[in-house]
Amino acid sequence: MISVFKNKEDCCGCTACYSVCPTKAISMKGDEEGFLYPEIDSSLCIDCQLCKKVCPIINNKKLKN
Ligand code: SF4
Ligand code: SF4
Repeated sequence: MISVFKNKEDCCGCTACYSVCPTKAISMKGDEEGFLYPEIDSSLCIDCQLCKKVCPIINNKKLKN
């Protein structure tokens, strides 16, 4: 399961993870300011890691390292 979800400030809300998830385990929820962030229903997650592979923030960090 994608780890960037733990830190809201690390997510740009691009919805790529939401779009790629094959089991619809991810939904985009608005915060108090109206910005959308992903939320995972772990009962639907099959741990395929696609959300992690598609996330531009996680993959950008990998490039910097
Ligand atoms: S690991 Fe796969 S099933 Fe789980 S939330 Fe990410 S894309 Fe969806
Ligand atoms: S793919 Fe990454 S940056 Fe985009 S909404 Fe999902 S967690 Fe946030």
